[in-house]
Amino acid sequence: MAERQITSHWTAPTDGWTLVVHGGAGQIMRDRLDAETEVHVRAALTRALDAGGSILAASGSALDAVEAAVCVLEDDPYFNAGRGAVFSAEGINELDAAIMDGATRGAGAVSAVTKARHPISLARAVMEQSPHVMLTAAGADRFGAEHGLEQAAPAWFHTDERWRQYEEMRAGGTFDADLKYGTVGAVARDVAGHLAAATSTGGLTGKRWQRIGDSPVIGAGTWADDRGAATSCTGSGEHFIRVGAAHELSARVRLAGQPVGAAGEGVIGEIGALGGTGGVISVDGDGRGGWCFNSAGMYRGLARANQPRIVALFGDE
Ligand code: ASP
Repeated sequence: MAERQITSHWTAPTDGWTLVVHGGAGQIMRDRLDAETEVHVRAALTRALDAGGSILAASGSALDAVEAAVCVLEDDPYFNAGRGAVFSAEGINELDAAIMDGATRGAGAVSAVTKARHPISLARAVMEQSPHVMLTAAGADRFGAEHGLEQAAPAWFHTDERWRQYEEMRAGGTFDADLKYGTVGAVARDVAGHLAAATSTGGLTGKRWQRIGDSPVIGAGTWADDRGAATSCTGSGEHFIRVGAAHELSARVRLAGQPVGAAGEGVIGEIGALGGTGGVISVDGDGRGGWCFNSAGMYRGLARANQPRIVALFGDE
Protein backbone atom coordinates (compact mmCIF):
# COMPACT_ATOMS: atom_id res chain seq x y z
CA MET A 1 0.00 0.00 0.00
CA ALA A 2 1.32 3.44 -0.93
CA GLU A 3 2.24 5.47 2.10
CA ARG A 4 -0.17 8.33 2.66
CA GLN A 5 1.20 11.82 3.00
CA ILE A 6 0.75 13.34 6.46
CA THR A 7 -0.16 17.02 6.75
CA SER A 8 0.88 18.60 10.09
CA HIS A 9 0.83 21.88 11.92
CA TRP A 10 2.10 22.30 15.50
CA THR A 11 2.71 25.43 17.56
CA ALA A 12 5.53 26.30 19.95
CA PRO A 13 4.92 25.93 23.72
CA THR A 14 3.08 28.68 25.64
CA ASP A 15 2.17 29.48 29.22
CA GLY A 16 -1.14 30.85 27.96
CA TRP A 17 -4.18 28.94 26.83
CA THR A 18 -4.51 26.88 23.65
CA LEU A 19 -7.68 25.58 21.98
CA VAL A 20 -7.82 23.32 18.92
CA VAL A 21 -11.04 22.16 17.22
CA HIS A 22 -11.90 19.83 14.35
CA GLY A 23 -14.97 19.16 12.27
CA GLY A 24 -13.94 15.87 10.68
CA ALA A 25 -11.40 14.57 8.16
CA GLY A 26 -11.94 13.07 4.70
CA GLN A 27 -11.95 13.79 0.98
CA ILE A 28 -12.14 17.52 1.62
CA MET A 29 -10.83 19.08 -1.60
CA ARG A 30 -11.34 22.42 -3.30
CA ASP A 31 -13.08 20.94 -6.33
CA ARG A 32 -15.49 18.89 -4.19
CA LEU A 33 -16.65 21.54 -1.73
CA ASP A 34 -19.15 24.17 -2.86
CA ALA A 35 -18.48 27.80 -1.95
CA GLU A 36 -21.47 28.10 0.36
CA THR A 37 -20.41 25.08 2.43
CA GLU A 38 -16.85 26.35 2.62
CA VAL A 39 -17.93 29.76 3.91
CA HIS A 40 -20.33 28.21 6.40
CA VAL A 41 -17.84 25.68 7.76
CA ARG A 42 -15.11 28.32 8.23
CA ALA A 43 -17.59 30.53 10.11
CA ALA A 44 -18.79 27.65 12.30
CA LEU A 45 -15.22 26.62 13.25
CA THR A 46 -14.54 30.27 14.12
CA ARG A 47 -17.66 30.37 16.33
CA ALA A 48 -16.52 27.18 18.08
CA LEU A 49 -13.08 28.74 18.72
CA ASP A 50 -14.77 31.89 20.04
CA ALA A 51 -17.05 29.91 22.37
CA GLY A 52 -14.19 27.92 23.92
CA GLY A 53 -11.62 30.70 23.65
CA SER A 54 -13.71 33.22 25.59
CA ILE A 55 -13.91 30.74 28.48
CA LEU A 56 -10.15 30.14 28.43
CA ALA A 57 -9.38 33.87 28.12
CA ALA A 58 -11.41 34.44 31.30
CA SER A 59 -9.27 31.81 33.09
CA GLY A 60 -12.01 29.19 32.74
CA SER A 61 -11.27 25.48 32.63
CA ALA A 62 -10.17 23.42 29.65
CA LEU A 63 -13.10 21.11 30.38
CA ASP A 64 -15.69 23.92 30.09
CA ALA A 65 -13.97 25.19 26.94
CA VAL A 66 -13.99 21.90 25.03
CA GLU A 67 -17.64 21.27 25.96
CA ALA A 68 -18.65 24.77 24.80
CA ALA A 69 -16.76 24.46 21.51
CA VAL A 70 -18.30 21.05 20.75
CA CYS A 71 -21.82 22.28 21.64
CA VAL A 72 -21.54 24.95 18.92
CA LEU A 73 -20.65 22.32 16.31
CA GLU A 74 -23.30 19.83 17.56
CA ASP A 75 -25.98 22.47 16.91
CA ASP A 76 -24.64 23.22 13.44
CA PRO A 77 -26.33 21.11 10.70
CA TYR A 78 -23.18 21.07 8.53
CA PHE A 79 -21.35 18.72 10.91
CA ASN A 80 -21.96 15.05 11.61
CA ALA A 81 -22.75 15.46 15.31
CA GLY A 82 -25.94 16.38 17.13
CA ARG A 83 -28.13 18.25 14.61
CA GLY A 84 -27.10 17.11 11.12
CA ALA A 85 -25.78 13.71 12.22
CA VAL A 86 -25.83 10.89 9.66
CA PHE A 87 -28.54 8.21 9.69
CA SER A 88 -28.05 4.59 10.70
CA ALA A 89 -29.30 1.69 8.54
CA GLU A 90 -32.64 1.98 10.35
CA GLY A 91 -32.89 5.69 9.51
CA ILE A 92 -32.12 6.85 13.07
CA ASN A 93 -29.61 9.40 14.34
CA GLU A 94 -27.58 7.40 16.85
CA LEU A 95 -25.08 9.69 18.52
CA ASP A 96 -21.74 8.97 20.23
CA ALA A 97 -19.72 11.35 22.42
CA ALA A 98 -16.94 11.40 25.01
CA ILE A 99 -15.20 13.91 27.24
CA MET A 100 -12.11 13.61 29.45
CA ASP A 101 -10.52 15.82 32.10
CA GLY A 102 -6.72 15.61 32.01
CA ALA A 103 -6.31 16.88 35.57
CA THR A 104 -8.24 14.02 37.19
CA ARG A 105 -8.53 11.57 34.31
CA GLY A 106 -12.25 11.67 34.94
CA ALA A 107 -14.02 10.49 31.79
CA GLY A 108 -17.57 10.18 30.50
CA ALA A 109 -18.96 8.67 27.31
CA VAL A 110 -22.26 7.81 25.66
CA SER A 111 -22.98 5.72 22.58
CA ALA A 112 -26.03 5.26 20.32
CA VAL A 113 -28.06 7.91 22.11
CA THR A 114 -31.03 9.52 20.37
CA LYS A 115 -32.52 12.12 22.68
CA ALA A 116 -29.93 14.50 24.15
CA ARG A 117 -29.67 17.76 22.23
CA HIS A 118 -26.03 17.87 23.31
CA PRO A 119 -24.51 14.39 23.54
CA ILE A 120 -21.25 15.95 24.78
CA SER A 121 -23.05 17.42 27.80
CA LEU A 122 -24.64 14.03 28.43
CA ALA A 123 -21.16 12.48 28.39
CA ARG A 124 -20.03 15.10 30.89
CA ALA A 125 -23.02 14.31 33.12
CA VAL A 126 -22.03 10.62 33.04
CA MET A 127 -18.54 11.66 34.18
CA GLU A 128 -19.69 13.99 36.94
CA GLN A 129 -23.02 12.56 38.10
CA SER A 130 -22.68 8.78 37.77
CA PRO A 131 -20.18 6.27 39.10
CA HIS A 132 -19.64 5.04 35.53
CA VAL A 133 -17.60 6.01 32.48
CA MET A 134 -19.78 4.80 29.59
CA LEU A 135 -23.53 4.42 29.15
CA THR A 136 -25.27 3.28 25.98
CA ALA A 137 -28.50 3.59 23.96
CA ALA A 138 -31.82 3.67 25.86
CA GLY A 139 -30.12 3.49 29.26
CA ALA A 140 -27.97 6.50 28.50
CA ASP A 141 -31.01 8.40 27.20
CA ARG A 142 -32.91 7.55 30.39
CA PHE A 143 -29.97 8.79 32.48
CA GLY A 144 -30.01 12.06 30.53
CA ALA A 145 -33.72 12.64 31.05
CA GLU A 146 -33.44 11.80 34.75
CA HIS A 147 -30.55 14.24 35.16
CA GLY A 148 -32.27 17.16 33.45
CA LEU A 149 -30.24 17.21 30.22
CA GLU A 150 -31.99 19.10 27.41
CA GLN A 151 -34.02 16.64 25.34
CA ALA A 152 -34.63 16.94 21.59
CA ALA A 153 -37.15 15.25 19.28
CA PRO A 154 -35.85 13.20 16.29
CA ALA A 155 -36.86 16.10 14.00
CA TRP A 156 -34.23 18.33 15.65
CA PHE A 157 -31.39 16.08 14.48
CA HIS A 158 -32.84 15.44 10.98
CA THR A 159 -31.54 17.37 7.97
CA ASP A 160 -32.74 16.88 4.39
CA GLU A 161 -29.18 16.52 3.08
CA ARG A 162 -28.34 13.68 5.49
CA TRP A 163 -31.65 11.97 4.60
CA ARG A 164 -30.80 12.28 0.91
CA GLN A 165 -27.42 10.62 1.54
CA TYR A 166 -29.18 7.86 3.49
CA GLU A 167 -31.72 7.21 0.71
CA GLU A 168 -28.98 7.22 -1.91
CA MET A 169 -27.06 4.65 0.08
CA ARG A 170 -30.17 2.48 0.55
CA ALA A 171 -30.92 2.60 -3.16
CA GLY A 172 -27.39 1.28 -3.76
CA GLY A 173 -26.62 4.54 -5.52
CA THR A 174 -23.46 6.47 -5.81
CA PHE A 175 -23.24 7.98 -2.34
CA ASP A 176 -19.54 8.46 -1.89
CA ALA A 177 -18.67 6.80 1.40
CA ASP A 178 -15.25 8.37 1.12
CA LEU A 179 -16.86 11.77 1.43
CA LYS A 180 -18.00 11.06 4.96
CA TYR A 181 -16.76 13.56 7.45
CA GLY A 182 -18.07 15.95 10.02
CA THR A 183 -17.30 14.36 13.38
CA VAL A 184 -16.43 17.21 15.75
CA GLY A 185 -13.91 17.56 18.57
CA ALA A 186 -11.96 19.97 20.73
CA VAL A 187 -8.85 19.87 22.92
CA ALA A 188 -7.62 22.59 25.25
CA ARG A 189 -4.94 23.63 27.71
CA ASP A 190 -6.13 26.25 30.21
CA VAL A 191 -4.03 28.89 31.98
CA ALA A 192 -3.72 26.62 35.01
CA GLY A 193 -2.00 24.09 32.73
CA HIS A 194 -4.82 21.53 32.72
CA LEU A 195 -5.88 19.63 29.61
CA ALA A 196 -9.24 18.33 28.34
CA ALA A 197 -10.57 16.59 25.23
CA ALA A 198 -14.07 16.12 23.77
CA THR A 199 -15.43 14.35 20.67
CA SER A 200 -18.99 14.01 19.29
CA THR A 201 -20.29 12.20 16.19
CA GLY A 202 -23.16 10.53 14.39
CA GLY A 203 -20.68 7.85 13.26
CA LEU A 204 -21.00 6.39 9.77
CA THR A 205 -23.94 6.69 7.35
CA GLY A 206 -25.88 3.42 7.24
CA LYS A 207 -24.12 1.93 10.25
CA ARG A 208 -25.74 -1.31 11.36
CA TRP A 209 -26.08 -3.44 14.45
CA GLN A 210 -25.53 -0.45 16.72
CA ARG A 211 -21.97 -0.14 15.47
CA ILE A 212 -19.91 2.13 17.71
CA GLY A 213 -16.80 3.89 16.42
CA ASP A 214 -13.75 5.30 18.17
CA SER A 215 -15.19 8.67 19.20
CA PRO A 216 -16.82 7.57 22.49
CA VAL A 217 -14.19 4.95 23.29
CA ILE A 218 -11.92 6.45 25.95
CA GLY A 219 -8.31 6.01 24.80
CA ALA A 220 -9.28 5.46 21.15
CA GLY A 221 -11.01 8.61 19.82
CA THR A 222 -10.75 10.71 22.97
CA TRP A 223 -8.15 10.99 25.76
CA ALA A 224 -6.71 13.63 28.11
CA ASP A 225 -3.91 13.35 30.66
CA ASP A 226 -2.10 16.42 32.01
CA ARG A 227 1.12 14.37 32.09
CA GLY A 228 0.88 13.60 28.37
CA ALA A 229 -1.56 15.11 25.90
CA ALA A 230 -5.25 15.72 25.18
CA THR A 231 -6.41 14.34 21.84
CA SER A 232 -9.59 14.09 19.75
CA CYS A 233 -9.58 11.89 16.64
CA THR A 234 -11.58 11.68 13.43
CA GLY A 235 -11.48 9.21 10.59
CA SER A 236 -11.96 5.48 10.02
CA GLY A 237 -12.98 4.68 13.58
CA GLU A 238 -12.21 0.97 13.57
CA HIS A 239 -8.53 1.72 12.87
CA PHE A 240 -8.36 4.32 15.64
CA ILE A 241 -9.76 1.77 18.09
CA ARG A 242 -7.23 -0.85 16.99
CA VAL A 243 -4.35 1.61 17.50
CA GLY A 244 -5.71 2.94 20.82
CA ALA A 245 -4.90 6.19 19.06
CA ALA A 246 -5.60 8.98 21.56
CA HIS A 247 -4.03 7.09 24.46
CA GLU A 248 -1.08 5.99 22.34
CA LEU A 249 -0.39 9.62 21.42
CA SER A 250 -0.38 10.65 25.10
CA ALA A 251 1.79 7.66 26.05
CA ARG A 252 4.34 8.61 23.40
CA VAL A 253 4.58 12.06 25.02
CA ARG A 254 4.54 10.87 28.62
CA LEU A 255 6.62 7.70 28.44
CA ALA A 256 8.73 8.05 25.30
CA GLY A 257 9.37 11.78 25.69
CA GLN A 258 8.27 12.56 22.14
CA PRO A 259 7.15 16.08 21.26
CA VAL A 260 3.39 16.12 20.71
CA GLY A 261 3.82 16.69 16.96
CA ALA A 262 6.07 13.65 16.49
CA ALA A 263 3.71 11.63 18.67
CA GLY A 264 0.73 12.65 16.50
CA GLU A 265 2.54 11.81 13.30
CA GLY A 266 3.63 8.46 14.76
CA VAL A 267 0.04 7.58 15.59
CA ILE A 268 -1.29 8.65 12.19
CA GLY A 269 1.53 6.60 10.65
CA GLU A 270 0.28 3.55 12.60
CA ILE A 271 -3.28 4.23 11.41
CA GLY A 272 -2.09 4.51 7.82
CA ALA A 273 -0.07 1.28 8.09
CA LEU A 274 -3.28 -0.55 9.00
CA GLY A 275 -5.04 1.00 6.00
CA GLY A 276 -6.87 3.70 7.94
CA THR A 277 -7.36 7.39 7.25
CA GLY A 278 -8.11 10.44 9.34
CA GLY A 279 -6.53 12.88 11.71
CA VAL A 280 -5.95 14.04 15.26
CA ILE A 281 -5.96 17.35 17.09
CA SER A 282 -3.84 17.44 20.22
CA VAL A 283 -2.29 19.69 22.87
CA ASP A 284 0.33 18.87 25.50
CA GLY A 285 0.97 20.18 29.00
CA ASP A 286 3.38 22.83 27.68
CA GLY A 287 0.69 24.24 25.41
CA ARG A 288 2.07 22.90 22.11
CA GLY A 289 -1.03 22.29 20.02
CA GLY A 290 -2.02 21.41 16.49
CA TRP A 291 -3.06 18.64 14.19
CA CYS A 292 -1.97 16.05 11.67
CA PHE A 293 -3.94 13.97 9.17
CA ASN A 294 -3.39 11.57 6.27
CA SER A 295 -6.69 12.35 4.52
CA ALA A 296 -7.03 14.94 1.76
CA GLY A 297 -8.30 17.51 4.23
CA MET A 298 -9.61 18.11 7.70
CA TYR A 299 -11.90 20.84 9.03
CA ARG A 300 -9.79 22.41 11.77
CA GLY A 301 -9.06 25.52 13.80
CA LEU A 302 -6.67 26.78 16.48
CA ALA A 303 -6.80 29.71 18.89
CA ARG A 304 -4.27 30.89 21.49
CA ALA A 305 -4.01 33.86 23.83
CA ASN A 306 -3.16 37.05 21.91
CA GLN A 307 -2.62 35.26 18.59
CA PRO A 308 -4.63 35.35 15.36
CA ARG A 309 -6.95 32.36 14.97
CA ILE A 310 -6.18 29.76 12.31
CA VAL A 311 -9.04 28.07 10.44
CA ALA A 312 -8.28 25.63 7.62
CA LEU A 313 -10.08 22.96 5.60
CA PHE A 314 -7.85 21.67 2.83
CA GLY A 315 -4.56 19.82 2.94
CA ASP A 316 -2.65 22.60 1.17
CA GLU A 317 -3.40 25.44 3.59
N1 ASP B 1 -14.39 8.35 13.67
C1 ASP B 1 -15.82 8.42 13.44
C2 ASP B 1 -16.41 7.05 13.62
O1 ASP B 1 -15.85 6.10 13.15
C3 ASP B 1 -16.19 8.94 12.09
C4 ASP B 1 -15.43 10.16 11.62
O2 ASP B 1 -14.63 10.70 12.36
O3 ASP B 1 -15.67 10.59 10.47
O4 ASP B 1 -17.45 6.90 14.19
